[in-house]
Amino acid sequence: MAIESINPATGKLIRSFDALTPEAIREKIALAAEAFRTYPAVPLDHRALCMRKLAAILEQETDDLAAIITFEMGKPLHAARQEVLKCATACRYYADNAARILAPESIPTENHSYVRWDPLGIILAVMPWNFPFWQVFRFLAPALMAGNTALLKHASNVPQCALAIESLVRRAGFPRGTFQTLLIEARQVESVLADERIAAVTVTGSEPAGRAVAAQAGWLIKKSVLELGGSDPFIVMPSADLDLAVETAVKARCVNSGQSCIAAKRFLVHDSIYETFESRFVAGMEAIRVGDPTKDTTDIGPLATAKIVEELEAQVKAATRAGARILTGGERMLGDGNYFEPTVLTNIPRTSPVYREELFGPVAMLFRVQSLDEAIAIANDTPFGLSASAWTRDPAEQQRLVSELQCGAVFLNAMVASDPRLPFGGIKHSGYGRELSAAGMREFLNAKTIVIA
Ligand code: NDP
Repeated sequence: MAIESINPATGKLIRSFDALTPEAIREKIALAAEAFRTYPAVPLDHRALCMRKLAAILEQETDDLAAIITFEMGKPLHAARQEVLKCATACRYYADNAARILAPESIPTENHSYVRWDPLGIILAVMPWNFPFWQVFRFLAPALMAGNTALLKHASNVPQCALAIESLVRRAGFPRGTFQTLLIEARQVESVLADERIAAVTVTGSEPAGRAVAAQAGWLIKKSVLELGGSDPFIVMPSADLDLAVETAVKARCVNSGQSCIAAKRFLVHDSIYETFESRFVAGMEAIRVGDPTKDTTDIGPLATAKIVEELEAQVKAATRAGARILTGGERMLGDGNYFEPTVLTNIPRTSPVYREELFGPVAMLFRVQSLDEAIAIANDTPFGLSASAWTRDPAEQQRLVSELQCGAVFLNAMVASDPRLPFGGIKHSGYGRELSAAGMREFLNAKTIVIA
C-alpha cells in the first residue's frame, strides 16, 4: 500500500510519503539500539516524569491531534478527541504503576531468591489505523516505562498520526532514539524483524498480517503478541434491562464507525424478547447519524478507506446471496467519501461465509436463540475469541457465561471497552498475549530468576 493520507470524507489525497530506503531503516534501527544501551539505566522516576509530560501534551493539544486522526481515518472529531485523552490516561496509569509492576518479586526458597523484570530491547510495533493513537499508546506507554525502546510501523493510511506520535514522545523528553516511526510498507516489515537487534514484535490488525509476522517471529524465535480481529457476541437474555441493552447494543456495534475489534458484531437474543429487541434495535440503527466527521452531531463518519467499504459491501452481498435478510441499510452511500449505511442482517445461515467473518463496519448480525445453551454455543461458534458482552440479571446465567464463553474478556450488563488497568487480548484467531495492565507490560520483559546462595 502506498503511504498516503487520503481524507475518507472526500477521497482527496492530503499528502503522500516515500517509504524509507533500506539504508534509512538501518540508521533508525542503529539509533534505537544505541538508545537501548543507556535508556534502561535512566531512573524510573525520570521515565515517569517524561510519561506524565507526554500525558500533559496530549491533553493540551487534544484538538489539533484529533484533527489529524479525523482527516486521515474519518472518525468523528468528538471520538478522536476521546481517543487522544484516553492515551493520556494510559500514560498516567503506567507512570503511576510501573514501579509496582517492575518491583522485584521475592520468592521464598532455601536461598535468597527473587525475580527481576528486565527490558528486552527494541520492540517493533505493527499497528492499524482504526484507533491510530490509542493502539500505539497502549503498547508504547508500558514499553517505554519498562526501559524498552520501540519502532513503529503504522498503517500506510495514517502516516501523519505516526509522525505526530513520534514528535510528541520527543517533546515529552524521552531520550533520542527511544521511539521512532518507520514510514515503511508492509512488505518491508520482514527485513526489519529479521534484524538481530529487534527483540520482539507486537501486531494489531488482521489475521493475515498477524499470521505473516508471527510466522516469521516464530522462526526467528522472537517474542510476539498478536491482537487481531474479533466477532464479539452480545447476548441478551429475558431478565436483562432491555432499554439499556438495546441502547448499548447500537453503541457497541457503531463504536468507531463499526471499525473496532471489540465492537459487538453478533447479537444473540432470547426468543421471548426477540421481537421487541429487533424492532428497537433496528430503530436505533436507523437513528444513527452518518455524515461529516467534523460535525458534533455526527455519530458515524466515513469508513477509513475505500477498500474497507468495498469489502463490507461484498460481505453483505454474499450474506444475502446465501439467504440472509436485510432489516435495514445494506448499501454504501452515494456521493463522495467512504460512507456505509448502518445495517442489520438476520436469518444468517451457518454455512454462509459471513457467519464466521469479522464485519469491520456498521453491520450487525442478529440471531434468535431459544436458550442460554444455544446462545453460548453460537457465541463460541467462531474462529475468534476476543471478548463478549452478555445481558442478564440471573446469577446462575451470569456464572455460566463467565465460565463458558471462550474469549479474553466477558462484560456482564456492560459494553466491552479497553481500560489501562485491565488486561486486554484474545484467544483463538483473535491472537495471543495481553496488552495493558501489569500483564501487558510483562509481555516484553525478561522475568529473570536470581538465586543467591
Ligand atoms: P492490516 O492487518 O492489513 O493492517 C494492519 C497493519 O499491519 C498495518 O500496519 C499494515 O501495513 C500491516 N500489515 C499488513 N500486512 C502485513 C504483512 N504481511 N506483514 C507485515 N505487516 C503487515 O489491516 P487492514 O487495514 O487491511 O484491515 C483489514 C481487516 O483487518 C479489517 O477489515 C479488520 O477485519 C481487521 N483489522 C483489525 C483491527 C483490530 O483492531 N484488531 C485493526 C485493523 C484491521 P499497511 O497499512 O502498510 O498494509
